[in-house]
Amino acid sequence: MLYYDFHIHSSLSPCGSEDMTPNNIVNMAKLCGLDAIAVSDHNSVKNVKAVTEAGKRIGISVLPAMEVETEEGVHILTLYPDTGAAEEVADIVYKALPDIKNRPEIFGQQIIMDSDDNVVGIEEKLLISPASLSLNSLFDVVKNVGGLFIPAHIDRHSYSILSVLGFMPQDLDIKMIEVSKNTTDLSAYLENRPELKKYKILRNSDAHYLDQFAECNASLDFEKAFDIFI
Ligand SMILES: [Zn+2]
Ligand SMILES: [Zn+2]
Repeated sequence: MLYYDFHIHSSLSPCGSEDMTPNNIVNMAKLCGLDAIAVSDHNSVKNVKAVTEAGKRIGISVLPAMEVETEEGVHILTLYPDTGAAEEVADIVYKALPDIKNRPEIFGQQIIMDSDDNVVGIEEKLLISPASLSLNSLFDVVKNVGGLFIPAHIDRHSYSILSVLGFMPQDLDIKMIEVSKNTTDLSAYLENRPELKKYKILRNSDAHYLDQFAECNASLDFEKAFDIFI
């Protein structure tokens, strides 16, 4: 049994707290009894390596991840089998972001850190914009590198595939979806949406602050975090 939280934002996300440093994240995960996490910042993976290294030191597995906003305004949680694959897609996404400079006083800082929580850079481009990539093209680039394409927080009223499209696109071979922790009664939710029952469901915190980690009870019947790609 693997306790996980695969949707956590670091200090790189402008809306993420500056306390979401690599070591604070992995230590909070440990306190919560989690075995595996993923740091999924908006449209960037620049803190993934630091969190992975910090996690290694205390025995927490960290999956490379990124939460991409498509041109439709849909958030997709993407997970990768290795950092090279994540960086390849992040490069495409970064180039597809509009050239808008972050205004920290409005949106918050976008802080890049090393595995000792030192600030090593500030991302200047605003990361919370939709990339000019459609759902279909993002699906292809993620699949090409062996990644997972997971519509994020599908039960939310904004930035979710269901709130934007109104349905799950059947032309994409989607296997997994994320239902946010706002939905406490998952079986009641699915009872009303039988068309969702065919998907594997992830429950993540989407934490932007240290006190928002999942209630530590989401688990998968895996031995290792990377089994999710099998
Ligand atoms: Zn989101
Ligand atoms: Zn998120």
